[in-house]
Amino acid sequence: MQLNSKIEEIFPRLADSRKKALKKIGLKTIEDLLYYFPPRHGDTDETKNTKDLKIGDKIIIYAKVKKIKASKAYYKKITMTEAVLEDSEGTIPAVWFRQPYISKMLPEGTFAKFSGTISDRKGKPYLANPAYEITESIPTGIFKEESDNHFFSPIYPESRGVSSQWIHHSIKKIFNSGLLDEIADPIPQEILKKYNLPSLKTALIWIHTPQKKSDAVSARKRFAFEEIFFIQLSRQSQKKKFQQQPSFKIKKTKEEIKKILDSFPFKLTKAQEKSIEQILKDIGGNHPMSRLLEGDVGSGKTAVAAAVSNAVVTTRPNEQSFGNLQIAYMSPTEVLSKQLFESFIQYFSEKNISIGLITSSGCRKFPSKTNPNNWTGISRPQLLKWVANGEIPILIGTHSLIQKGVVFKDLACVIIDEQHKFGTNQRMKITKKSEVIPHLLSMTATPIPRTLALTIYGDLDLTLLDQMPTGRKSVITEIVTPAKREKTYETIREELKEGRQMYVICPRIEEPDPEKAQALRVKSVRAEAQRLKEEVFPEYEIDILHSKMTPADKEATMSQFENKEIDILVATSVVEVGVNVPNATIIIIEGAERFGLAQLHQLRGRVIRSNHQAFCYVFSDTKAEQTLDRLKALQSAKNGFELAEKDLLLRGSGELSGKKQWGISDIGMEAIKNIKMVEAARTEAQEIIKEDANLKNYPVVKEKLKKIEVHFE
Ligand code: ADP
Ligand code: MG
Repeated sequence: MQLNSKIEEIFPRLADSRKKALKKIGLKTIEDLLYYFPPRHGDTDETKNTKDLKIGDKIIIYAKVKKIKASKAYYKKITMTEAVLEDSEGTIPAVWFRQPYISKMLPEGTFAKFSGTISDRKGKPYLANPAYEITESIPTGIFKEESDNHFFSPIYPESRGVSSQWIHHSIKKIFNSGLLDEIADPIPQEILKKYNLPSLKTALIWIHTPQKKSDAVSARKRFAFEEIFFIQLSRQSQKKKFQQQPSFKIKKTKEEIKKILDSFPFKLTKAQEKSIEQILKDIGGNHPMSRLLEGDVGSGKTAVAAAVSNAVVTTRPNEQSFGNLQIAYMSPTEVLSKQLFESFIQYFSEKNISIGLITSSGCRKFPSKTNPNNWTGISRPQLLKWVANGEIPILIGTHSLIQKGVVFKDLACVIIDEQHKFGTNQRMKITKKSEVIPHLLSMTATPIPRTLALTIYGDLDLTLLDQMPTGRKSVITEIVTPAKREKTYETIREELKEGRQMYVICPRIEEPDPEKAQALRVKSVRAEAQRLKEEVFPEYEIDILHSKMTPADKEATMSQFENKEIDILVATSVVEVGVNVPNATIIIIEGAERFGLAQLHQLRGRVIRSNHQAFCYVFSDTKAEQTLDRLKALQSAKNGFELAEKDLLLRGSGELSGKKQWGISDIGMEAIKNIKMVEAARTEAQEIIKEDANLKNYPVVKEKLKKIEVHFE
């Protein structure tokens, strides 16, 4: 048996269903299995009985399945299993969605350990989609002293189809094979010693089969460090490679810069001016820029991008006396790309500079031959031709920009808007679009905690746009409980009468998706739009916007909203990204407890586009105090960065969906909560890359890094 042995070869008699499940969670090799860590370790503190359960609690209970039945009653298409779990103190209902086999796995009378979160359904607690592990009986005496660690155990996510029992069994088999003695530790010895971390072998044993809590804690700490350390190594070596490359030098004189700054329709904020100067200094240097511009929604990042674009496209390539350098400006959605295209037309209309737009639904060029003040639709091949020969120096678009057929003549700079919406690989891809590495300006409004920024953007230099254009009033934010709903609608009506417009954000498009734990009362865009029209605001035009509409429909709706043909736009969080309608000054967020603070903050940012007073109403039916406290942070926090830090503290790291958004595992996210650990991992990685960029003296590190970077590609 070796680390890279296939699981199927070592465990030859796997059932097909298990093979499928393993594939689905991405476990191929023995190494994958060893690194399949339990998301958490349960301990006796979390073990509760049915009597004292509070909504929001994460618990483990030992119970008997008293009743269980699969049904399709509620939503015809979706199966749902309902059970009643019983222990010595009483009973609690449990519900699983889309797992019809559960009733076969847990027939009535089965004893099991259940772990999950207590959710509420019409005010009554129930256990939603709990993980389970069948036991022989309900153990007695589980509330013994702290020192009794008998029930301290790793909890694997059973619901993903690979049972805990199978994992325990397989891991034991791997441990017994002697493999652990042969594998090399990817963290250098000195570092383990310095930070008092267990070796790989010890940590693997401790994380999968801990004897006591402190062992599991140490092991988790080690793997958290390991993950961050390797991300840092990868980013730092990337940075070093970048810094060794030549680039397009874009030198502007003071007067030229002043001219650019003066050409804007408004006076730039100090922060904008400073950012522009910093960026121009970068791109005037000998090496490619990699800079992240972080600024709250509405802080005016587009103007910064326009200034930089101006500097780039008015520069001749290679000191030639003809032609111009090119810029690619990528944004995550079609709606946003079109808005950027429109904004850029305004910034560049008098400068005789062509601008192209490329999205999957078509291409445009400004100016049109027949009407120099307007754009025209053109064919894709025509646009690509003009980009390839340099006639179009500015190309704006969605990820269509990074497709194979798009070739630039002299691509000198890449700007990525709302860059957190793109994976690292998409970022890498676009910077590879040119022989000479283009300058990279990433922009984001997602305020993230400092530790996370240090980790995932370890290769970027950071500029903060920490000032709003003058005259902006901050958004008045209110948390609205069900009792205050009607009154709030009346307050809103006054604003609508003044001619303002409103967004209503719902978590879902259609009927609720019952798969999610608290789904049963989640509002849907369609139903809510209908309800508002019939019961609340019959006198106003109401329409909907969501991700399943065709791009043409979306665009039509957006432009109707911009032209004030629609007063109230009921939408999913698709409007989160960069939409700009200054007259929309009210936003209602339904089911707010389902959004992260940073996301709520961004949604709220939709309504600070003008000098009218803006309002954000955060509607929540939740009774969980913890959740309400979290929402209240929206009122007290001064800016997005502060909120991001709070989010990290108040929510479990697992709930920050690190994997999905940032490619960091739940264990890695534990490190993100710990500034000391992140700084240590960063310092060590920097040291190693500084001394030994090619990792000649660190063969094991090099090997592991290669594997990780394949994931990033
Ligand atoms: P974001 O940082 O969210 O991308 P935008 O660039 O879309 O923000 O700018 C938001 C709005 O503020 C736009 O309507 C823009 O024209 C305006 N704006 C940008 N900078 C200034 C400024 N210095 N003074 C006044 N208005 C500005
Ligand atoms: Mg923007």
